[in-house]
Amino acid sequence: MNKFIKYGLLNIFLSCIVALIGYSIFFQIHKKEVASSVNQKINMHAKQVETFITDVVSSINSISTMAYYEKDNKKINDNMAQIKQSDPRIINLYVLNEDAIAVNSSSELMLNKKVESLAFFYQYADVNLVSISKVRKNLLNEGVVYISKPIVNAKNKVFVVAEIDINTIGTVIDTIEKNSNITIKDLDGSKIFESRDQLPYIYSKSLIFQKAPWSLTISSGSDTKMTAIQESFALFIISFIIITIIQALYFYIQEKNRTLQMIDDINKQKKEMIGLMAANTAHEIKNPLTSVIGFIDIIQMKYDDNHQNPHFDIVKGELKRINNIVGQFLLLGKPTKVESEVHNIVDIIKEVVQLLQYEFDYSRIKLIIKYDDNDIFVDIPEDQFTQVMINILQNAKDAMHSNRIGIIEMVVGKDRENAFISIKDNGIGMDAKSLHQLFDPFFTTKDNGTGLGMSVTKGIIEASHGQIHVNSQVNIGTKIFITFPLASPNNYEI
Ligand code: ADP
Ligand code: MG
Repeated sequence: MNKFIKYGLLNIFLSCIVALIGYSIFFQIHKKEVASSVNQKINMHAKQVETFITDVVSSINSISTMAYYEKDNKKINDNMAQIKQSDPRIINLYVLNEDAIAVNSSSELMLNKKVESLAFFYQYADVNLVSISKVRKNLLNEGVVYISKPIVNAKNKVFVVAEIDINTIGTVIDTIEKNSNITIKDLDGSKIFESRDQLPYIYSKSLIFQKAPWSLTISSGSDTKMTAIQESFALFIISFIIITIIQALYFYIQEKNRTLQMIDDINKQKKEMIGLMAANTAHEIKNPLTSVIGFIDIIQMKYDDNHQNPHFDIVKGELKRINNIVGQFLLLGKPTKVESEVHNIVDIIKEVVQLLQYEFDYSRIKLIIKYDDNDIFVDIPEDQFTQVMINILQNAKDAMHSNRIGIIEMVVGKDRENAFISIKDNGIGMDAKSLHQLFDPFFTTKDNGTGLGMSVTKGIIEASHGQIHVNSQVNIGTKIFITFPLASPNNYEI
């Protein structure tokens, strides 16, 4: 499968998981919000309905007193009409006589009409107390309840009745709570009022009124699911974008690393090829060069027996230089060790130092050497180790300031596993760029340098399983640290 399709699918998969988790969290949060809002509102509405009933009850009480004492029926009717006017939930108010005929009414139309049998009111009535009837249909076929109170000791007036529109009570709540279902039930469970459009809901709460024999239920949260879906979809998009950015960054870094690795490989191959070519060419030069040097000696003996002609020395000097370069070229093509050759490097270093001492004295360079041990055995060909020491000490000498006394400090020692040599000079040092190129073949900053010394040195050290580390600071100096695995002196042949 194409890499991008694979990562694209992975991205979609991860984003879906994030969105799903997001959905369940959003849903829970919204559900809690709906619950707390419903709990708050149901109490508010219950309180309002109960206040209304309390008001009606006190109106009934005042009417019953008035009906008993007031002789002017018109006054009573007007008073009742005024009360009815004040609240749309009151359909009518009546004062009934023994035949259940309305002798007083808030509506003229209902005067002298029969509202309901007295038996009906008596079944709820309690002397001197206000009672609420069950729901029933009135003459106009509306669902109503009657709140009534008997008038004691009055001759032709026996009941004060308020006819309450239960539908309006529900509708008032329903209009305020647009996105909720409102249900009002009788205590026996029959529905008195229900919202017209029943919406799906996620939370429902019921409450029984204290002052009326009804329960109120509010169910809400019809749009909660949709809101959570919309929010989690937004989360999906955000997560998709973020994951895409992370993936793009990952690809970019991966690609960059691959390019760097490729450049590194090419450089390494290039160096190996240069080394190999140089070594092969040197091999071809070495033989004719040896004969040329030999023949020059013969010719000098023949034509310049007394060493009078300076040209011979010049030719021989130049040939020696060529021979030296060619010798380094040969080592450039990976020096390999065929046989094990264990030497005491302390002895070799002492020889090298002796060899260079004259040159150092001449250049006024102080060479301080500390030998921690006198027997340090390393498995390395003698000529190669000599070459390493000469290359490093030669560079140290070349690096010295002309106006400062040059000091080279060397420590030669060993620990349990390794031999180590540290060489510190107080020369001109190297900047980071030079340090980086130090081991590249042909890298030189000297007018007549070959740039082969350090490259060859590294090759030799690594062929004998050693390591070389270099620290340098411009104008302060350079410190080179070399380690070799210690060889067992058993292999040491005298
Ligand atoms: P060459 O000596 O022919 O220039 P090398 O490979 O021996 O070649 O060294 C490469 C370069 O590294 C030198 O030209 C020099 O710039 C730098 N270098 C090496 N050793 C030192 C040192 N001890 N102090 C300062 N620079 C050094
Ligand atoms: Mg050198």
